[in-house]
Amino acid sequence: MLKRWSEWRENRQIARIHLSEQQWQQAMAYPSAAQLAPALTQRWRDMTLRFLLRKNFYSGAGFVISDEVRLRISAQATLPVLAIGLHWYDDWDSIVVYETAFIPPFAQRDESGLVSHSRRVLSGEAWLRGPVIFSWEDVIGAGHGAHNVVIHEVAHKLDMRSGAANGAPPFHHTMSPARWHEVMTEAWDWAHQAQRNGRPVPIDSYGLEQPGEFFSVLSEHFFMQPESLFEHWPQVYEQLMLFYQQDPLRGCFVS
Ligand SMILES: [Zn+2]
Repeated sequence: MLKRWSEWRENRQIARIHLSEQQWQQAMAYPSAAQLAPALTQRWRDMTLRFLLRKNFYSGAGFVISDEVRLRISAQATLPVLAIGLHWYDDWDSIVVYETAFIPPFAQRDESGLVSHSRRVLSGEAWLRGPVIFSWEDVIGAGHGAHNVVIHEVAHKLDMRSGAANGAPPFHHTMSPARWHEVMTEAWDWAHQAQRNGRPVPIDSYGLEQPGEFFSVLSEHFFMQPESLFEHWPQVYEQLMLFYQQDPLRGCFVS
């Protein structure tokens, strides 16, 4: 009953939100979005607004959180769970946004669940059972190349649903954990070997620092440059497709 009531209330709140076509186009301007079927684009809009209403946005260092800030972060954060559902984000509700790069309030301590970045040290952070933090400057920089700080951090959140961010999110019953492990380990080993030999690696080398970063950086590539990921690592692409239940190359869902 309570669930039905909150859904009803949320539907009424959504009906009252008026956004221009231009605002949507701006929020959804990402490579894999162009492939989406119209029905999925509509679903994306709907889920984006539900995400926006369910999460609390907080200002970092006085940054003014505008509608554009909420909308763009919500749209990007929703893309990875378009098929698997917003309930995958039910275990967290706070987003802190700084205007530019920020200084993390704590030192990096992976074992405590904090995931912070040495390279993009101040562009984003995801806390186990805590908030997700972004630099707005980095959020709007997304869309160039494979980098997307929002997808990166929410991928950590998905990963953390099974404990620490270790590169193994909770698997659907249709997936084989053994196969995931085998494919990811092979790609991880190959990439490290290539890096040692000075050969090019298909993803940002930051993803090679630890398995949790590997999963997040691969997720960025999966949604931002699916062609290149598929070309270099078709088996990794397939595992991510099974997890996200989406095929960004074809703009459709898979089960
Ligand atoms: Zn990370």
